[in-house]
Amino acid sequence: MRLDYNYVTPNKNCVHNNAALSASCWRELEQYAARMTHLDLSVHSCPSRSAFLAQFLASITPLPSEEATILHAAAIAADGVLLKHGCRLLLRVPWKFVRIAPAQAANDLPHTLGDSIVLGPSFFAQAPQAQLVTLIHEKIHVFQKLLPAQAGLFIASVLGYYHSAPCPGGLRQVLRMRCNPDLDSRLYSRDGLWFPFEQYHVRPHSLRDASLACVRMCQGCGSPAEVSPRAADHGYRYEHPLEEMAYVVSGQLATGTLPPSSAQLL
Ligand SMILES: [Zn+2]
Repeated sequence: MRLDYNYVTPNKNCVHNNAALSASCWRELEQYAARMTHLDLSVHSCPSRSAFLAQFLASITPLPSEEATILHAAAIAADGVLLKHGCRLLLRVPWKFVRIAPAQAANDLPHTLGDSIVLGPSFFAQAPQAQLVTLIHEKIHVFQKLLPAQAGLFIASVLGYYHSAPCPGGLRQVLRMRCNPDLDSRLYSRDGLWFPFEQYHVRPHSLRDASLACVRMCQGCGSPAEVSPRAADHGYRYEHPLEEMAYVVSGQLATGTLPPSSAQLL
């Protein structure tokens, strides 16, 4: 299938053409759809996974030249910040973009699918500094997908997550867990007891109708024993270590406060 596919090459030449979605992007789009629960589908107003896939593909739009100019400038600025901090691995991650016009404005959240960063209209309405932070944040998610061992090292040694548990579809349903294409399908914890996640409100209308909760796992049988809506009480500000890494590192890069010991790993 051929689609409009817009990307900036690693040598910073801005390109937009009609190539297909990258294999990595396509594969992860299918994996994301396969993980979706009925609540994930309902916030996209889709009755089925195949309907979601069709809706996503239909939402891909060409990149207008004025947006290509904005993206080009923001990607160069982001690489400049990475260069200044010596983030050699992040600099090697290529910039690939897919521009979408989501069916619902409330679902316009930048995200990644495989090696590609998916951006909707909200990105182009941001101020330049916010665009810079968004691009670095999303590039960190691509880094996590392309170099999972290096990301895992950062997560254990810098963020202190040492435990993970599988999260089967049944558990996602029971906990009203929001599926996020930037994250893997496991639950993670620092103490092996409490695991953070984004929980949909009872009748969500969009991806934003969710809040950070925590589930305590039974240490005997490994099944959920208790859900706490106050994840901060258990030391969590983010739903997943991959998200925590993206927020913390992009924030530190933007403010010039990334510790050299962290930069070495990136
Ligand atoms: Zn993120």
